[in-house]
Amino acid sequence: MSERKHISPIGQEGLYVLDTASWRTHRPVMDKNTCVECGICLSYCPVNSIIFNDENKYEITYNYCKGCGICAVECPKKSISMVAEGGEDHG
Ligand code: SF4
Ligand code: SF4
Repeated sequence: MSERKHISPIGQEGLYVLDTASWRTHRPVMDKNTCVECGICLSYCPVNSIIFNDENKYEITYNYCKGCGICAVECPKKSISMVAEGGEDHG
């Protein structure tokens, strides 16, 4: 049998937890004034960083958000802006 190859971060010690938030140079910021609570951003986020909170609102969390910007591109109302971390391009 050929050696099995993994495409997910699984090794001899199990699942690796990647600190994807450390990759981020820009963070998504949601404008609640224009958001229509459609949930499209949640369905596109690759690391489940967008949640439906206890107040029945969509909310971006940042523990694993890697700043990819997919949510900002997919939002039909353009309610998500990518803002530089620390006010600098690579802050
Ligand atoms: S996709 Fe845009 S409008 Fe829809 S919930 Fe997300 S931020 Fe709000
Ligand atoms: S920037 Fe990427 S990782 Fe962060 S919330 Fe948006 S889609 Fe998810």
